[in-house]
Amino acid sequence: MNIILLGPPGAGKGTQAQRLVEKFGMRQLSTGDMLRAAVKAGTPVGLQAKAVMERGELVSDQIVSALIGEELDAMGAGTGAIFDGYPRTAAQAESLDALLSDRGRGLDRVIELEVDEDALVERICGRFTCANCGKGYHDKFEQPNQAGVCDKCGSTEFKRRPDDNEETVRTRMAEYRAKTAPILPIYDARGIVTRVNGMADIDQVTAAIERALSV
Ligand code: ADP
Ligand code: ADP
Ligand code: ZN
Repeated sequence: MNIILLGPPGAGKGTQAQRLVEKFGMRQLSTGDMLRAAVKAGTPVGLQAKAVMERGELVSDQIVSALIGEELDAMGAGTGAIFDGYPRTAAQAESLDALLSDRGRGLDRVIELEVDEDALVERICGRFTCANCGKGYHDKFEQPNQAGVCDKCGSTEFKRRPDDNEETVRTRMAEYRAKTAPILPIYDARGIVTRVNGMADIDQVTAAIERALSV
């Protein structure tokens, strides 16, 4: 099964993708994570993407689609893919169709996480992750069971993203409205979109996604 998690920054895509990975052994393909790894490693792609990401604008379609193609090639044919943060433009949606069909894969479902914009700034400004395993947390909504210790791996080091500030969030939301939301009709026309209330508790959102995937 191959699915897309679609929604504005802070909607809960990464949080839900991590849960699906753990429960169903699917693989999370996050272009944001891939780009941050490239920036950290100082690769040519990273050097090109760094400033764009810091402004909250979109990196070129060509770069992100190439990253997705590489990850798909590195995956077992039987492992399902969760696309998180990709596609974000009509051109990327087209590329994804080609990338999947070239590999004998199809797109089974698009989950749209619907959230109030007012909630997103608070979510994003409180977001942090484990520096070791990448598990996501929130200052208020998802704290580690033991303060300062990662639930999953026991690490005591955490990090915050440089672009998770109020100013950048506004740009990222505007990018989402202008370029990403308009791709939904493509998938609606295929009858594969399920809308999920992303304002519910994290566990309830997971349950709703699981229901959507079992139909
Ligand atoms: P969020 O989870 O907050 O939506 P991401 O981690 O998905 O953020 O993305 C962070 C930044 O990386 C984006 O603001 C953008 O600059 C870049 N980026 C990630 N995915 C894409 C993509 N599919 N197309 C273009 N730019 C992307
Ligand atoms: P995205 O990948 O869509 O940008 P994240 O999954 O990183 O979003 O979630 C953003 C922040 O909001 C994280 O700190 C996460 O812990 C928190 N969060 C995610 N889902 C919910 C939810 N349903 N209710 C409250 N907080 C949430
Ligand atoms: Zn950890």
